[in-house]
Amino acid sequence: MKGLELYWEAVKYRVCSKCIDSDGHGTCRLRSEEGCGITSYFPRIIEAISSVQSPRLDVYVDALRNTVCVRCKHQLPDGECLTRRHLDCGLDRYFPMIVEVVEEVRLELESEKEGFGDQS
Ligand code: SF4
Ligand code: SF4
Repeated sequence: MKGLELYWEAVKYRVCSKCIDSDGHGTCRLRSEEGCGITSYFPRIIEAISSVQSPRLDVYVDALRNTVCVRCKHQLPDGECLTRRHLDCGLDRYFPMIVEVVEEVRLELESEKEGFGDQS
């Protein structure tokens, strides 16, 4: 997906840098076997957020559950997730911030595209 690196850089510096599992500069300190949904499912997270546009967070959360959580090994058949319930999922913990950052980058990319369009 175009701009994926831009989304990643923004999330890394604005979300991961504040995460209790980062080194304070956006580098994740989790061992690979522990993992984090953000690194495991990043393209799908962008897909989920880009599939909706709403002032309501629950609309984004539904998109996340249907696009990402449904494929995650931690989600139980009834939709429950103990990792989420124990606040051990960085993706879920910081999802409101991720939505905010991704929507800002999306707007920037759209206005850049429109700017190029004006020149042609
Ligand atoms: S645990 Fe997730 S949110 Fe936290 S630093 Fe690692 S990748 Fe980022
Ligand atoms: S909330 Fe649970 S199911 Fe969803 S990504 Fe996190 S660990 Fe996986």
